[in-house]
Amino acid sequence: MYKIAVLPGDGIGPEIVPEAVKVLEVIGRKYGLEFQFTEALVGGAAIDAVGKALPEETLELCRNSDAVLLGAVGGPKWDDLPPAERPETAALLPLRKGLGLYANLRPAYLFPALVDASPLKREVVEGTDLLVLRELTGGLYFGPKGREKEPDGEKAYDTLVYTTGEIERIARLGFQIARQRRKKLTSVDKANVLISSRLWRDTVNRVATEYPDVTLEHMYVDNCAMQLVRQPRQFDVIVTENTFGDILSDQVSVLTGSIGMMPSASIGGKVALYEPVHGSAPDIAGQGKANPLATILSVAMMLKYSFRADAAASDIEKAVDRVLNKGYRTPDIYQEGRILVSTSEMGRLVREELEQK
Ligand code: NAD
Repeated sequence: MYKIAVLPGDGIGPEIVPEAVKVLEVIGRKYGLEFQFTEALVGGAAIDAVGKALPEETLELCRNSDAVLLGAVGGPKWDDLPPAERPETAALLPLRKGLGLYANLRPAYLFPALVDASPLKREVVEGTDLLVLRELTGGLYFGPKGREKEPDGEKAYDTLVYTTGEIERIARLGFQIARQRRKKLTSVDKANVLISSRLWRDTVNRVATEYPDVTLEHMYVDNCAMQLVRQPRQFDVIVTENTFGDILSDQVSVLTGSIGMMPSASIGGKVALYEPVHGSAPDIAGQGKANPLATILSVAMMLKYSFRADAAASDIEKAVDRVLNKGYRTPDIYQEGRILVSTSEMGRLVREELEQK
């Protein structure tokens, strides 16, 4: 039996997470897998209920589970809290750190039915199939930071720190993932300006000697931002540091038609965490407009990476593909002539596909 910690969080989190849980229930029946779901508080919801964005019980539950499913955290209600108490900093960062999740996998696959849902031209995005591997526990978000009074104003700083060990482990994972795909790894940095990037590049080059079958290229982050919207098919696996990965993967989501289509897995510790790439989308929360597919595809990643149930994972991906081919769309991927459905209808359609085949 697999124990899954379920953290819906804020905004659209409580709308999309139950759809993914119900998909797992269908998968459990179909493949003879038993899941035990335990829900816990996180983010703004936890601040409101118990005064803390990541209650100790929640972290404990996650540590004692086989996998974690997270919706999203944050929203305008908690935006004015001091930075250290806000859901994003006080829940997500310690959760990642607490579980030792140093690697975030963000696959960007454009389902053929959604080629025209992207604002980019068909000939540019068609065939997009890449994966952004983002380092998750180092760099700017975790380095020494501060804000101090100065005689003529204030001074604020964040520090981008990486150690050889941190770079080696993420680089190694990048090569291993590339090996299972099309064997090309693009390491993204800013080595023309940043010293931390020079260490990054030297270290990736050294690790590369262990993987002669994988083609390695280096790219500056500014050029990468441009290449991603110019010729995304050139990429297979992109490995990069925390902040660059954060920004580039949101950009990449446009290639998939909507950020509501992008799943993610955070791995590296004993327990992995699965969540959609997007945030809590307060602008559409509570209206049944959220696309649950990123979360549903995140549980497909859970089946693959945590439970080694590859057939079940690909069953979900194929079910999503069929639902999209039949023309069903949530508002974020809707185009004229398609069938507009709500969050829960989209979830039900995927489950029906799974039950039929
Ligand atoms: P967001 O990803 O929540 O929303 C960006 C845009 O994408 C919005 O227009 C939203 O409606 C749309 N969108 C996002 N998910 C969607 C879905 N599943 N279906 C359809 N449309 C979707 O980013 P934001 O607006 O910058 O942030 C909102 C809040 O979420 C903030 O408090 C932010 O800090 C937080 N956030 C949390 C996480 C996380 O929990 N991992 C990640 C990013 C942002």
